[in-house]
This record gives sequence, structure tokens and C-alpha cells, in this order.
Amino acid sequence: MSNEAPPRPVISVVIPMHNEQEVMHQLFGRLIPVMTEIAEPFEIVCVDDGSRDDTWRMLRLISVDEPRIRPLRLSRNFGKEIAMTAGLDAAQGEAVVFIDADLQDPPELIGEFVKLWRQGYQNVYGLRTKRAEDTISKRTTAGMFYSIFNHLSDTPLPANAGDFRLLGPDAVRALRACRERQRFMKGLYTWVGFASIAVPYERPARAAGQTKFSMFRLWNFALEGITSHSTVLLRAWTYVGLIAIAFGVLLGVWLLIEYFAFGRNPPGFYLTVFVVLGFSSLNFIMLGILGEYVGRIYQEVKNRPLYFLRNDDLE
Ligand code: UDP
Ligand code: MG
Repeated sequence: MSNEAPPRPVISVVIPMHNEQEVMHQLFGRLIPVMTEIAEPFEIVCVDDGSRDDTWRMLRLISVDEPRIRPLRLSRNFGKEIAMTAGLDAAQGEAVVFIDADLQDPPELIGEFVKLWRQGYQNVYGLRTKRAEDTISKRTTAGMFYSIFNHLSDTPLPANAGDFRLLGPDAVRALRACRERQRFMKGLYTWVGFASIAVPYERPARAAGQTKFSMFRLWNFALEGITSHSTVLLRAWTYVGLIAIAFGVLLGVWLLIEYFAFGRNPPGFYLTVFVVLGFSSLNFIMLGILGEYVGRIYQEVKNRPLYFLRNDDLE
């Protein structure tokens, strides 16, 4: 090769990496031939997310011989969402492909992703048809998460879609414009909209190394996903208050009827319950009203763009 500058990449593959030394050679061994076959200039942006193993040293070494691999290093472990965002910001290609380092996302699918992108799709995502590699508990909790999320959020998530996907230039621009700190990428992909299409695949087990997501981390991740894409939980308290008021009114009416119509003096206990219901429902309603405002403040501080325009004629 002469020393002319390499062509500007058309496709940027972004890989978040946290302690992935075991899998790295296998990963590039499969990814680079796949990318070469697609016959578009590409780069592979590897974001070392505060690894404590040899990930960074190996990336540096490999990138000397393979300049299409661009290693980036975060100052500490920021988590997968931020690592992907850093890669997205650094990507120079028109389209960005997110893929896990552990080969659970088969690189062979990228060719298909690119074809669909060329047809105009901005968000081509891998859909896991089988989660046999996951434990039963992970599958059930994941199922519960999707169901709760989709009830609470205005932009439902396709169940069993992960981060493995290709984003076209419009989606890349849109995602870059979302700068919220509490980041839940899966929610953002659907929130930005654009023409999307799923490519089904069977998800294999991790090629080497260990999962970085403990049950506790997944729980926090789920909370983050729900709270960053819905304010329903803040605002629901008004309705709890209204239900409590309804009970209070019923009880009050009954007390009055007992006293005035039948001349009976109901036990003081009922009066106490009446007062408690009255004040606690007021409290709930006040919380709900506060929640309405806090929810609005939250929406405003996220400062997401108001809208994006589509540039395709797909349905
Ligand atoms: N990852 C990361 N930062 C983290 C945790 C994970 O960049 O703090 C990367 C990890 O290196 C891998 C991807 O995110 O490329 C998915 O992680 P993993 O395979 O452990 O998750 P799982 O497939 O078990 O959900
Ligand atoms: Mg994995």
C-alpha cells in the first residue's frame, strides 16, 4: 500500500469493550473478513470502557497493523451505554453498527443490515428469535421488563431486540443530538423514530470471557430504562389519591346516614378512618401534582430535539 490517506469510512462498527481480552482475536478474526466482503470502506471503533485486563494494550497492538481499527479509551468504567455513545460520537462513517465484543451478535448479519440500509431503513436491528443461551430467570425477568416498559412508555420497545443494529445517517444524527445523561440506548433508538426493520437471528452464547451484567446491574439498568422514558410513576399518585377520596366519601356518606337517618352513633373508629382517608388522599393528590411538574421539568432538562424529518419514501 502507498501512504495515501485511507478513504473516509462509509460504515463505522462501534464495539464497547470492558475486559474483553479473551475474545478479541476471535472477534476481529470474524469481523474483518465480513466487513471486507461488504466492499465499503469501514472503520472499527473500539471503546475500551475502563478495562482492568489487557484489552487496551491488545487494541493498541492490533491497531498498528490494522489501521482500520481505532481504539478509544474512556477514563474509567462508564458502562455500556456511555461507551457506545462515545463510539457514536467518534464514528466517521455514514452508518454506524453497534455490536457486542463477545460474538453473541453474529457479524455475518452486518451484510444484510447494510442491504436494508441501502433500501432506506435507518434503524436495522437484530431480533433474537431464541434466548436459549440465557437462564430461565434472565428470560422471565427480561420478559417482565419489556411488558412493564411498554405499558409505561409512549414509545414501545420491540421485545428481544438488543443493541446489535445498524443506524443510518439520519438516525446517527438524531441519536447524537440526544445528550441526556441517564442514557438508555434501547429506548432512544425507538424514540428517535425513522423507518425500522428487524432481522431475526439466533443468539449464541458468549464466545469467551464472562458477562459483565450481574442481576443487580440488570435491575438498575431496568430502573434506568423505565425512569428515563416514562414519568408515569411520578404522576400515578394523583389517581391513588382519587381512589382514597372515593372511599372516604363513601364512608362519610354512610356515617351521615347512620347518624341522621337511623339515629345510631357509629363507633369512633370509623370517624378516625374517615379523617385518615381524607388527609392521606390530599397528600397523595399533592404528590401527584408535584409529580406532574417534576415530570415536566425532567422532560425539559433532557432537552431532546423536538422532532426529526424523514428522508425516505418507505411505508
Ligand atoms: N460492556 C461495556 N461496559 C460495561 C459492561 C459491558 O462496554 O460496563 C460491553 C461488553 O464488553 C460487551 C457488551 O458491553 O461488549 C455486552 O456485555 P456482556 O456480553 O457482558 O452483556 P450480556 O451479553 O451478558 O448481556
Ligand atoms: Mg454478551
